[in-house]
Amino acid sequence: MLVVMKHNASEEDISGVVGTITEMGYDARPIPGGQRTAVGLIGNDGRVDSGRLQGLAGVLEVIPVTHAYKQVSREWKEDDTLVTLPNGTVVGGNELVIMAGPCAVEGERQIIDIAHILCGMGATILRGGAFKPRTSPYSFQGLGLEGLRFLARARDETGMMVVTEALDPEGLDLVAEYADIIQIGARNMQNYPLLRRAGRAGKPVLLKRGMAATIEEWLLAAEYLLAEGNHDVILCERGVRSFAKHTRNLLDLAAIPVVKSLSHLPIIADPSHGTGLRSKVIPLARASVAAGADGLMIEVHSDPPRAMSDGAQSLYPEQFQELMEQVGTIASAIGRVVTAPLEAVTPV
Ligand code: PEP
Ligand code: MN
Repeated sequence: MLVVMKHNASEEDISGVVGTITEMGYDARPIPGGQRTAVGLIGNDGRVDSGRLQGLAGVLEVIPVTHAYKQVSREWKEDDTLVTLPNGTVVGGNELVIMAGPCAVEGERQIIDIAHILCGMGATILRGGAFKPRTSPYSFQGLGLEGLRFLARARDETGMMVVTEALDPEGLDLVAEYADIIQIGARNMQNYPLLRRAGRAGKPVLLKRGMAATIEEWLLAAEYLLAEGNHDVILCERGVRSFAKHTRNLLDLAAIPVVKSLSHLPIIADPSHGTGLRSKVIPLARASVAAGADGLMIEVHSDPPRAMSDGAQSLYPEQFQELMEQVGTIASAIGRVVTAPLEAVTPV
C-alpha cells in the first residue's frame, strides 16, 4: 500500500503517517519525490484498514498495490482449480461444462422429462431452482423441499449433477443435502452469513456475480468461501446492471479473461440471465466460450411460454441442441472440447 502525501505536506505530517503505520504493526518506507513524498506500507497481510491512513493530516490518497483477497488469487495458487463432481464432470479443466435446465423446478415430470432431454443433448449438470429469489413477493417462490426431491430423482434417473440455489443460511444445509453444487445467486453475493455457511457445507459452490458488483467485490465474496475451507468454488458471470435497456443485464464478457488472470477459480457464463432474451442466448453463449469461459449455464424449458419464471429467456430444447453444436465448434477452435455426454442411467 502506498500513502501519497499532498505536495505541501509537512515533515510532521509525514512522520505522523510513518508513526501510524508502525503502530499498526507494519514497516513504513518514505519515498521522497520531486513534487511530493509517498510512504510505502511494507508487509500488508490483507488486514490493513486504509481508512485510518486516509484521514491523517497531509495525506492525498492511499493506493492499494496488493489485492485485498488472498486465497482466490493467482499469486496464492498458480494452477487452475479443478472442481471434480461425483459423476466425473470436471469444471475448470480443458473440457467445457454445460449446466442446463429450467429456471425453476415446477413439477416432478417437468424436471425429469427435461433432464432426460438435456442429458441426451450433452448437458452433464442439471439446473433448476427449488427456492427462487423473486423480485416480487407475489411471484412463484419455488417448490422448496419437494423441488429438491424432484431434482434428486432427476439425478438418479440421468446421472446428471444438480446445481440449485440456497437462499438463506438457515436453508443452506437442506439444499446441501440434495445438491451437488450449491448456487449462491446474484442477489446474495454479499450475504456474508450465507457465504460462511456455504463455505462449511462440504459441497462445491457456484457463486454468481452480484448485479452491481465489481470484480474485486466478487472475488472477495469468493474469498469468504475459501476462508471457511471450501476450495471448490465456481464463479458465474451473469451480467450486471447497465444504463442501457436493450438486454435485461449486460453480460460482462471482459470479466471472463480478467477473472482468469486474477484468480485460479473456474468461471462459467450465464447468457440466459445475462441477456434475458431467448434470441440472444446462443450468440452470447458462443461469445462466452470464445472469451474463455469454462462452462455455461443455460435456461431451457420444454414450453417456455408456460414457464413459471424466466420464460422469455428460456430456450426451447431444439435451440439448446443448436447451441451445443455451435459451442462445440467454438470450443474446438480454441483447443477445448465440450464434456462428453453421460450415458443415461435409465433410458427414457
Ligand atoms: C437463477 O439462476 O435462476 C437466478 C435467479 O440467477 P441470478 O441469481 O443470476 O439472478
Ligand atoms: Mn432464472
